[in-house]
Formats: sequence, structure tokens, C-alpha cells
Amino acid sequence: MTAKKLPEGLHIDTLAVRAAVDKSQYGENSEALFLTSSFTQPDSETAARRFSGQEDGYIYSRFTNPTNASMEQRLAALEGAEACISTSSGMSAVLLMCMGLLKAGDHVVCSQSVFGSTLKLIGSEFAKFGVQSTFVSQTEVAAWQAAVQPNTRLLFAETPTNPLTEVCDIRALAGIAHNAGALLAVDNCFCTPALQRPISLGADIVVHSGTKYLDGQGRVVAGALCASDQLVKDVFIPVMRSAGMSLSPFNAWVVLKGLETLGIRMQAQSARALALAEWLQTHPKVTRVYYPGLSSHPQHALAMAQQSGLGGAVVSFDVVGQTPDIGRRNAFHVIDQTELLSVTANLGDVKTIITQPASTSHGRLSEAQRLAAGIRQNLIRVAVGLEHLDDLKADLLRGLDTL
Ligand SMILES: *Cc1c(COP(=O)(O)O)cnc(C)c1O
Repeated sequence: MTAKKLPEGLHIDTLAVRAAVDKSQYGENSEALFLTSSFTQPDSETAARRFSGQEDGYIYSRFTNPTNASMEQRLAALEGAEACISTSSGMSAVLLMCMGLLKAGDHVVCSQSVFGSTLKLIGSEFAKFGVQSTFVSQTEVAAWQAAVQPNTRLLFAETPTNPLTEVCDIRALAGIAHNAGALLAVDNCFCTPALQRPISLGADIVVHSGTKYLDGQGRVVAGALCASDQLVKDVFIPVMRSAGMSLSPFNAWVVLKGLETLGIRMQAQSARALALAEWLQTHPKVTRVYYPGLSSHPQHALAMAQQSGLGGAVVSFDVVGQTPDIGRRNAFHVIDQTELLSVTANLGDVKTIITQPASTSHGRLSEAQRLAAGIRQNLIRVAVGLEHLDDLKADLLRGLDTL
């Protein structure tokens, strides 16, 4: 039985539920989970052709699996990328990208506000292999330009950042990268392609932690890179084949199904986050709210232009208490008075999550490094899920009203 071919020119919403490899002979309506480590070959000649790349065909799930291929096709369609490769985690996506693109003597320019493990991987682990890096201000385009060297191969940005939601100008950074003969990679974890499509703004590579909004219900750890056919086929797949930071087909299937509801989740969670951010601004015990959807956000206009007019689902705020001791006590009080919210450092779940960045995601930094990054003890981050807004407000008020 041959599957129906998808019509040309479908919209993103349609591709989010339809893009996949062909159905099997059974005509399953929900994409199948091929939980198999290897694939049998009809005969030795065919096997030889497939192993040498002369003929397409599934071989071994370290680098080819139909469930992973469905997830990759769907995510590539959403990002407007030619191709995608899935990885075992968001960090292994960064690892695969750096292994594929960089060699000793190369240089990377990276925002100083990217995900902590990304800072460590590029700044410390790859430094061991002779890769140099310069970390620059997230928001100052001139600082990125000034950091470029003749050996710069890669610019790496993440926007908005965690937890302060600083926004960088993807189009401007793409221009700097391309003038220097380098590539621009953007970690699109916070916005997802439902809100922001970096490739349409000039980026060459989109990095994903599928663990967050792509799964969307906090079930699996996963990652992916979206890029041109040439980069995926000639640069990333060979590294994957040798190094094996592969995504389990089971986890690929969970993400594949998560992508079907990504658009409506991002809309609904962003709407709740905006309402919560506006409400937090009015509370007397809240001294500052960080959310790109607020007109008080320093890069509000850029964010609205770059993110489909939505702020995303992460809201951070400072509570009263300017000294570190009092700030920490007050932040802990608000968090510990909640009865509904999940106290955990993940994000991207439909269950709302609350955390104090200074003692969790940014706990490995020194107090001086945290202050330089603007992350004080009185900062709280909320990753807004799908609960009713009134229940979220009531849960936060337990602590805010008793400070
Ligand atoms: C979580 C996260 C990562 C790492 O992803 P894992 O799937 O946990 O490895 C990378 N970047 C950002 C922005 C993240 O939030």
C-alpha cells in the first residue's frame, strides 16, 4: 500500500500534525513507534549499498530510525529548515554541532547569558581541545562584532535567555557571522518554532532541547539540530555515526507527538504568562518583572517583532529584599508557600514550575558572577503551564502577601 502524499504548500499548523515518514503497510493513523535497534536487509548486495550510502535504507538506530526520521521531518518543517537531526539531549545537540564544526585553533563568539551547561561545554570542555571562545553581552550587537577574529567559525546565541529573558537581535548577529565567514547558531528552546523561526531571520543552525516545550509534558530528555541538507548530511550525520549521541526512538516518538500540540500550547501558555506578568507588576512586594511581552522590557519591540508578537511562557521577578540574605529568605518564602506549583528547575511543562535561579540553575556560579549576570538572590523564575490563572495567582499570593 502506498501512503497518500501530502499536498504542496501546507501551513505550519498542518505540518505540525502531518509531516512524517510514510505510513507502514498497516495504515496506522498515529505514527508508529519503531522500537528496534537494527533493521534487517533483504540481501548482502543491498546491505552493502546501504552501508556505503549508495542507496537509502534504514540500517541501525544509532543513526537511522523511521520514528526519529518522522520527528526530524516534522521539526524541520516547523523551523523552515531543510533538514534536522535528533540527539539524546539538548546538550548533546550542542556537542554534536561543536564536534562537527570546530577544530583546534577555531574561535567561537557566544553570548555570556546562554544556558549554563552550554557555557561550560564551549568555554571549558572544548577549550581542552584547543577551541577558543569569547563570551559577550547578549544585547550589545557591537560587542559581538568586536569579538570576531579571523579564526571565528561560529556565533552562538540563545534568545530569550534564562532566567532574565534578555533578547538578542538574530538578524543583526546573522549579518555579523556571515560577513566574517562564520555560521550563526541559535538555541530556540524558549520560543520554539511556534513563536520564533531563526532560520527565516538568517540563522544557519537552530539548536533545541526537546526536553522542554517540544515534548511539552516533562516526560523525556531529547534534543535536535535543524540546518541545511548539506550541514546535516555532510557534517552532522557522520559525527553522529561515529560518536552516537543518538535519541532513543521511544523518546523521539514522545517528542513527535508533542509537536502536534506545540502551537496551541505556546499560545495558551504565553497568554497566561503575559497576564501573570502584568499582575505581578502591580503587587507591592514585587520590585521588578522580567518578561518580553511587557512594554517595560528593555527589548520589548525587538522581541515582539522576532517572536510572533508573543513573550513566551517564562516570567521572572524580583521580590523585596535587597541584601542577599533577606532576598534569599524572601524568595524561598514565596516558593515554599506554594501548594500547587512544582518546585523544580525544568521548564516547558504544562505544569507550572517555580524556582530560585541563584541556588539552582545558577548555583554553580560565584555570587560575583551571578551579580555580573544580574541574577540576585531575590529573583524567582516561573515557567508558566496550563493551570487556570486564578489558581496560579492564589498560589503565589500565599507567599507574596505574607512577606
Ligand atoms: C534545558 C536547556 C538546554 C539543555 O537541554 P537538555 O535537554 O537538558 O540537555 C539547552 N538550552 C536551553 C536554553 C535549555 O533550557
